[in-house]
Amino acid sequence: MQQSFSNLSLHKSILRALSEEGYHTPTPVQQKAIPEVLSGKDLIAVAQTGTGKTAAFSLPMLHMLHAQRPNGARHIRALILTPTRELALQIDESLRTYGRHLSLRTAVVLGGVSAGKQIKTLRQNPDILVATPGRLLDLFGQGHVHLHQIDILVLDEADRMLDMGFLPDVKKIVSQLPTNRQTLLFSATMSHDIARLAKQMQKNPVQVDVTPAVSVPAKIAQQVLFVEKKNKRALLSDILKDKGVLRALVFTRTKHLANRLMQHLSKQGISADAIHSNKTQNARQKALSAFHRGRIKVLVGTDIIARGIDVEGISHVINYELPHDPESYVHRIGRTARAGSAGTALSFCDAEEVGLLKGIERLTRVPLTAVEDHPFRSNAIAELRKSGISTPTQRKRKGRFTPPPRKQHSASSQVSTQPEPTPKFGRRNRRMKRTFR
Ligand code: AMP
Repeated sequence: MQQSFSNLSLHKSILRALSEEGYHTPTPVQQKAIPEVLSGKDLIAVAQTGTGKTAAFSLPMLHMLHAQRPNGARHIRALILTPTRELALQIDESLRTYGRHLSLRTAVVLGGVSAGKQIKTLRQNPDILVATPGRLLDLFGQGHVHLHQIDILVLDEADRMLDMGFLPDVKKIVSQLPTNRQTLLFSATMSHDIARLAKQMQKNPVQVDVTPAVSVPAKIAQQVLFVEKKNKRALLSDILKDKGVLRALVFTRTKHLANRLMQHLSKQGISADAIHSNKTQNARQKALSAFHRGRIKVLVGTDIIARGIDVEGISHVINYELPHDPESYVHRIGRTARAGSAGTALSFCDAEEVGLLKGIERLTRVPLTAVEDHPFRSNAIAELRKSGISTPTQRKRKGRFTPPPRKQHSASSQVSTQPEPTPKFGRRNRRMKRTFR
């Protein structure tokens, strides 16, 4: 029998909001986590973004906070810590949506914007506070936040918080909370460090595991395009001009390249903006909102937007550069095919990145499909992938280095320094449609 939200003992006002949102069936993480949270237990959930984990903690939290409204003055009773500002805002929005028929108040504190407005909201005594750790500690230190009456703590994307070096801040915050609280920890992976963190902060947690540590939604078509570095820009413009690309997120490794690509695309008449950590929070929100509303077709960003960002209708994720860390690949491409729709992930791979591609395929255990008929295809790089050796440097290290052959068509695994054959522009559009839709 298929589960429905009405079997989960949630308040009818929450069920009404869910039905208005068109949510009828709880996702696996929601099915497993909601009853445990409602029973008051501590919980570790291994779940990635896109699995519905925000609702998995928000719904029972709203239910319990509503049921246990204090008779006296309001105070912060639930704290949600997140690693990024965008995620904090997104969680706040979800809480407002699911709790729209309840009378609970939420507030967000995050860095990068002036604290004045946040302090004002804190004075209205919210029930739930969503925060990034640094700004929360600042405001706590200044006496604007009181944490001694927290009943529920959520650590969202706990593995990411550890990666980003938030652990000392998180520990300082947790030391200010009552020990008699419920702690919910969400993480995309269950590493040794997460287990240690859980031990320090939780009491007999129930573990809910809904996805293998690394899994790519089957609805994402994963393709790789072998291309020389110098041709990547032209390839990108070409793909983005295709009508099949409705909304695209383009990832680079550096902020500088994200900016340069954004300028290049704008010059080409493709509406684009860039998002990375050097931008002010207002600029970041403006870019995201323009992307969300479809005012711009392309958002170019670094891994700062690889996690948590939930924009409907991203038809394509393009890895202009492959990430050094294969797990980032999984997070990046998870921005497409949201909420059950289909999506395409295109990864550009130059000669230096063949090793990174192999690392990704080892992690996901899914080989990426090579696009054979794009106009800037490099045979030599495609051959490199087939050979066991990733780059000329690695060949050298293995003591098997041979100088690159002069002729391109020889059966070699070396990268050609010759220009790729000139693309046949007449047939290109037709081919691109077939390839990228
Ligand atoms: P999350 O993993 O929390 O980022 O959620 C991923 C997406 O799934 C968001 O767009 C949610 O609004 C959506 N979602 C969450 N729960 C459900 C559900 N039970 N049915 C349909 N969509 C959902």
